Amino acid sequence: MKKNRKRIIITVLEVLAVLLLLAPVYRLACGIGLKKAYSKNGITIYADGVGHKEEAKQMAEKLRVQLSEVDSEYSPKISVYFCRTMAEFQIKAIAIGKPIALSRTNLKATLFRPCDWMKNSIEPRKPELLPRSLSSALLHETLHHYEREKLGAIRFFIKMRSENWKIEGFCEYHSASSSFPIDKGLRIFSGEDNYDFVTSNEIKPEYFYFVSRLRTDYLLNFKKVNESDYWSTKYDEDQLDDEIRQALKEKIYAFTVQ
Ligand SMILES: [Zn+2]
Repeated sequence: MKKNRKRIIITVLEVLAVLLLLAPVYRLACGIGLKKAYSKNGITIYADGVGHKEEAKQMAEKLRVQLSEVDSEYSPKISVYFCRTMAEFQIKAIAIGKPIALSRTNLKATLFRPCDWMKNSIEPRKPELLPRSLSSALLHETLHHYEREKLGAIRFFIKMRSENWKIEGFCEYHSASSSFPIDKGLRIFSGEDNYDFVTSNEIKPEYFYFVSRLRTDYLLNFKKVNESDYWSTKYDEDQLDDEIRQALKEKIYAFTVQ
């Protein structure tokens, strides 16, 4: 079955679960085998073992500060689960593939693949990629919940299907971190390096995230497009990419980020 069809089925099931008031049941199931390490003002963190309450509290407080920089009026209502094994993650997240983390925004849940969450670092999926700080990954995931709330469930779902680069680019832009090496990404984007690097190393999703972040940075940071126009404007992606390439070439725009 195609990934897109699977994604639609999962989203329909998510919406049905919400309608049938099964969201609390889903979150209860996600918590099986894990311990509640933190719960306050809408953020609950479940992890393995005991004695990590202070770390979980710091993580939640940092997340609140980061979110307030994006939108001071947003207060999240989410549960975060740090899974202990890849199988646990895939089953609980109903994950397609093996991403670092996954948010079920309708069910107000975010799940992470196994990681040493107290070290604030997640190992890359492939050696060609960069490790990522957990706080930036958690911010990225929480911003999906924010997008869903801000856009509404239907618009969020439509955008995931038709303009997923905006959905991902917005989160990557604000969480200010990339798994894809920036210099390499810019060379591939500009045509100076071969795209084969992406296909042969099976890092297409990460390159997509990189380009999504680049487009979003160009629009929000460089062109000062306001967020509501960012969401409502239908950009021609090829045209936008050509414009960015030209701006990079003329050195009027620089993607100076990590
Ligand atoms: Zn994402």
